[in-house]
Amino acid sequence: MIRCAIALLILSLLAACSPKITSRLATTEDIQIIAPRMSDEKKTSPCYSPLSYVAYPELIRPKYIRVNFHFMNSSDGSYNMPEEETATYARDWIMATNSNLDNNMKMFLPPGNETPVIPIPYRYVISPDPGVPGDDGVYYHVDDVLCYAVKTGRERNISDKRVIQKYAIRDDSVMNIFLQTHQLDSIKSPTYRPDASGISIGSSVKIFGRWHERPSVWSIRGITNHELGHSLGLAHTWGGNDGCDDTPTHPNCWNKTDSSPCDTLYSNNMMDYNAHMGALTPCQIGKILLNMSRIGSIQRNIIEARWCTLDTTANITVSDSMRLEAAYDCEGNITIESGGTLEIACRLSMPEGATITIRPGGKLTVLSTGYINNTCNGTWSGITLVQEGKKKGTVEVVNGGKIENTVQPLILEP
Ligand SMILES: [Zn+2]
Repeated sequence: MIRCAIALLILSLLAACSPKITSRLATTEDIQIIAPRMSDEKKTSPCYSPLSYVAYPELIRPKYIRVNFHFMNSSDGSYNMPEEETATYARDWIMATNSNLDNNMKMFLPPGNETPVIPIPYRYVISPDPGVPGDDGVYYHVDDVLCYAVKTGRERNISDKRVIQKYAIRDDSVMNIFLQTHQLDSIKSPTYRPDASGISIGSSVKIFGRWHERPSVWSIRGITNHELGHSLGLAHTWGGNDGCDDTPTHPNCWNKTDSSPCDTLYSNNMMDYNAHMGALTPCQIGKILLNMSRIGSIQRNIIEARWCTLDTTANITVSDSMRLEAAYDCEGNITIESGGTLEIACRLSMPEGATITIRPGGKLTVLSTGYINNTCNGTWSGITLVQEGKKKGTVEVVNGGKIENTVQPLILEP
């Protein structure tokens, strides 16, 4: 009992001696406007480098891509599976396609590479139309002309957009996947290769297969990720002009063989034609995230806007120096600890109700190319400054930088 009382006394004495900690919302007067620094001037368009988007892997949030399915069949039913099987098939298919994304592979090329393996941050979700009661996002169309595809020869029609124009649903916000079977007469020809393949056309993808034979969903997961990868903005890598330095050119071997060049130069990248199609490099992932960050892009429009709702499990703590040279849609609150600095070089979106808290000795800098806002046409709570004695958090904005959409507007003038 006595020991307890002494402990309490010591505690209250300590509390009395330590400076008072207060916190309040930053106002216009708290913001220091500063002239551009040489180190910032050197940089041009820092927001368009794919690698900037994977510079802080811990900040990458999962992205959910909306998809729907269109099973095309002929009136005699010979070109696809029966409608009652399609919902289960589509669900299993997406599960298999996503499972490939769960395990990003280490790159096979170049031999001996040390390219980092970072988690693939997106998944596909079947998306029903919320405006249609009972819709499940899996559609069935009987059409004797558009139920099939011809890959080669005079009747080649794989890039034909008619099936998309006629049947796409919500293709401004959902990736539409069309299943067409190879024309049954051409399958019989010994020179025609009716293998699973596809084509990406904007926010739609056509996958060609022998759907009437119900191929295993595991056998088509690679080509599905490949085609959807095109829609996310990725190019083939073997030619060497895909905009990434970590995807070397190669002879595009399907698999490893005993003779050169496919004995050593076989790829496992998702964006080549090979038996694995299971690896994405940091640059490729960065490119997808960059595309998803571009306001108005199709890659952004087809993902769920999770950055519009505050999710405190996505809170970020900055305890040393962090420079964000990528557009970033923050889903939580940000805290800059004492001694931490956060520099914003591009767009930073904060969700409704979120704050950036700056503890004493912490610093937030918005660079001349940077701006903080709420990209959901709403507001965010603003910047909370914590003060301990005379020590407080600081906010500086380099001429040209902006802080917008705070509940209490901040007026920044040079
Ligand atoms: Zn391709």
